[in-house]
Amino acid sequence: MKFQYLLILFFLSFSFSARSQVNENGQLIIKNVDVMTWPKDISATDVLDIYIEMINSDPEANLFLNQVNKKLQDHGISHVRDIFQYCPGESKGNAAAFFSQGANVVETRVSIPGLSENPWSESSVAKQKAGFSSEVIKMPFIEFLAVSDRPEICIHKGEQLISTYDTLIHEMAHFLLNDPFIYLEELSSSLPFPDFVQMTVFTKGGELDAFKIGASAGTRLTKKYGLPKYSATEYKFFSDAGLVADEDGLKSYILKTYSNYYKNSDMISQLKAAKLSIVDTKIQILRNNVEPVLKTLHRDDLNKKFSDEIKTLVSLKFQL
Ligand SMILES: [Zn+2]
Repeated sequence: MKFQYLLILFFLSFSFSARSQVNENGQLIIKNVDVMTWPKDISATDVLDIYIEMINSDPEANLFLNQVNKKLQDHGISHVRDIFQYCPGESKGNAAAFFSQGANVVETRVSIPGLSENPWSESSVAKQKAGFSSEVIKMPFIEFLAVSDRPEICIHKGEQLISTYDTLIHEMAHFLLNDPFIYLEELSSSLPFPDFVQMTVFTKGGELDAFKIGASAGTRLTKKYGLPKYSATEYKFFSDAGLVADEDGLKSYILKTYSNYYKNSDMISQLKAAKLSIVDTKIQILRNNVEPVLKTLHRDDLNKKFSDEIKTLVSLKFQL
């Protein structure tokens, strides 16, 4: 999404938009719709088709959309159309659109060096197959089988179709570049709770990347058609060609926006609670399922690794 995204694209027809051009009244008409308006009854699919036509008129955006569709196809979804809809409910604050893709731990198992592992259960394997993607998160003596949900992009109806074009590209950039397991890995690790604002902004496919890709595409589009520039604040950090002109300015603008956003939400406390719960679960597994086995092995190296991990986790609890 443009103001937050939570833990929890094949080949388009290249119609080089002969139908899309600015008329003598300064209107840009695409597929019989004036993109300076948002027709009341237009469907989400028709909105997306108009955006796709805009994308097709820009080779760089076109390449980007092909990558998005390719990534979806690699996971069994044929087109971005299949993950796109209007957001339910009214638009909240400035959030014009959202990208979301949850990730969940479906099974936990013990992993002791030198001993064979239990296979994942059939039901977990079924969940793994049904999910978008999966990953095994490996920690000392413990492994999580994590499965990501189907990605979703939604947009809110606004005043003008064109004003959400850059936002849609922004959300697609999150999908294309971000690793759906990054937050779960972070919460599962025995490292201190991270600076989530920094992480949200600077992680690959995070807000900085998404703003760069979205605003660049937006700048190229308005320039191409001689339309008024987008007025959103981030545009002042971009050149007329759509390149970042003031990287530091852009970074601090985004950081400030998201730290205000997180300050006014209970996201950080929810994430801390989630981390605490994972730490507790890990301690329990180590005590109940790992320690008894280690006692029978008499391996000094493993015993040391075990006691170090317990110490780390216990001290982590008190920092959360
Ligand atoms: Zn975003």
